[in-house]
Parts: sequence; C-alpha cells; structure tokens
Amino acid sequence: MSAETMKAIIKAEAAPGAVCSEIAVPVVKPGHVLVKVVSTAICGTDLHIYDWTDWARARIAVPMVFGHEFCGRVVEVGEGVTRARVGDLIAGETHIPCGKCYQCDTGLQHVCQNMEILGVHSPGVFSEYALVPEPCVWVLPDGTDPDVGAVYEPFGVAAHAMLVESVAGKNVAVFGCGPIGLFAVGIARACGAAKVIACEVSPDRLTMANNMGASHLVNSREQNPVESIKELTHGNGVDVAVELSGNPIALQQALGSITRGGRLTIAGLPPRPVEINVVDDVIYKELRIYGITGRVMYDTWYTVSNLIESGMVDPRPVITHKFDMCDIDNAMAAAKGGKAGKVILRP
Ligand SMILES: [Zn+2]
Ligand SMILES: [Zn+2]
Repeated sequence: MSAETMKAIIKAEAAPGAVCSEIAVPVVKPGHVLVKVVSTAICGTDLHIYDWTDWARARIAVPMVFGHEFCGRVVEVGEGVTRARVGDLIAGETHIPCGKCYQCDTGLQHVCQNMEILGVHSPGVFSEYALVPEPCVWVLPDGTDPDVGAVYEPFGVAAHAMLVESVAGKNVAVFGCGPIGLFAVGIARACGAAKVIACEVSPDRLTMANNMGASHLVNSREQNPVESIKELTHGNGVDVAVELSGNPIALQQALGSITRGGRLTIAGLPPRPVEINVVDDVIYKELRIYGITGRVMYDTWYTVSNLIESGMVDPRPVITHKFDMCDIDNAMAAAKGGKAGKVILRP
C-alpha cells in the first residue's frame, strides 16, 4: 500500500448534498479486507443520504463516506481473514450481521437483530479504497466486468424476491421497474416464467423492461394493471406478483392481480402503512405473502453468481449511466430521473 490519502464522497454536514474530499486511506483491521474500489453503483439508500431525508437523519452520523454497492480488488487482508486473498476481485454483501443473535445462529443472518449496513452504520465505498468486513466479501471470477460486479448486491435483492418460490411455467407480474424490478424481469424470464408482465409508469423504464425480457408491458399511468393482467391471463390473474415500487397503490394493484392460490412478494418499501383487503385478497385467495429484505447469506449470492456467470441473465442493459465519482451531483440527478436504470460511479 503506497497511497496515504484518497478521494472520497463525504456526507459532510447534516444537510442535503455531498462533497468530494481528500481523506486518509483506511488502515486494515483484523477481520477486514482493504479494497481498491474499481466501480460502485448508486442505490436508493444513497439518494436518501444525499437528499438528507428523515430516513437518513435517523441513521447517519456525519461526517461519513457513504455508498455500499461496489466491486474492487483486495489490496490487504487483516488478521484472521480467510474468505479472500490479496489480488482477488470482489463484490460485497452490504449487510453486516452480528454473528451472535438468534437469527444469526439459525441460518437467518440476513435478518440479524443487530444488523449494520456498510455505508450507513460504517464508512462506505464511494472512495478509492474501502474497508470491508470479512462476512461481506464475495469473490468474483477474475475478468468480471467491474460495473457488473458492482450490481451483484441489488441483483441479489431481485433474485431473492423473484425466486423465493419457483417461477417455472408461471405467469409473473413485476410492479415497479427501477433497477431491482428490471433485474427481476430478467431473472423471471431466465428461470422459466411463462408470461413476464412489467408494470411501470416511466416509458423509458418500460423500454428497459422489454430489453430485459418482459413479454408484456403495462404503463400503469395509462392502463389499469389489474384489468390488463386479467386480460393477459384468461381472466385468472397472475400466479406471482412481485412489488418493487414501494407505491401503496401498486401494492394494492399487485394484490388484485394475483390469482387464487398465488404468491405475492413485497420488497418495495411503502412510505406509510398500507390498507389491504385481507378477506378478499389474502384469506379467500389463500395467498402466500413474502416480505423480502437483502440477500440470504450466502444462498442468494450463489444464485446470483450462477445466473450472471452462466450468461442466463445479463445485467448490463440496466446500467444506463456512468460518472466519475466526484461528479456526484450530476450522478445523483441522473439517478433521481425516471430515465435511469443503474447509475455507476467510478473512482
Ligand atoms: Zn443497495
Ligand atoms: Zn445477528
């Protein structure tokens, strides 16, 4: 390690915005690896931190480097680390489990009671170097496109959400075609879904959904998705709906579009409690509802590797913008617009 200082995007003040500064390179600690960051991606969480929303105010201690989706090369390993060696190209799990609670002890580390998140509770990856705890290390095949490596983490949310039950031969609807919804469309198609119906309000994102393999596109602003889905499924409704928009109306539409005995997965975060018709849409339908957060460690990571590295799903059509890291304001503006898929920041 020769460099002593590095560029980093800092949330400097308890106010909207972020700055590109020169700070000290982190010193490797036991149980951690030091990574030279090659590519990062902007997540919805980063927009909250940048905009300094109530969500961010409640969680972030300034000043802090933020960002959590990354691909980088290991340049130093701390004492006791066995998951990676110097020179490995890695992606990163961003949920840091405690390893001690009931969930961690019973195979549910991804819903740890004491979960910390890289770039939220500890310094993040929008920097030239980053310190990554060993449980977050996921080694990639050498030669992986670093921008693809940077989206393994959000791709994992899509894989966990879509494949919590098999979709082979089933009709599937995806509500919300942001990056995770777009990945979900590609995963459903690759894993043998019959119809993959993408419901979204942005025409640009519907075009991207088409590129990811959606069989039918529904513009939810112009058509009623429940009616459109019924028409496309002989009046039955879909077997599977995956809600990724976080829009309360979309959640109600997802419920209304599922056939009896079907499955709903919810991973979009509604901004407030949502009223649903439990009698008609859940009980009488014998609906199975899954809440999904993060990725199963490391079950989902193996699935993501299999899907991407076999070529079954190519995440690249979802990557629409690339910026130099210090061009953070323009990158954030692009990420907020309805035209963007995934926005990449490179140090
Ligand atoms: Zn993320
Ligand atoms: Zn735990």
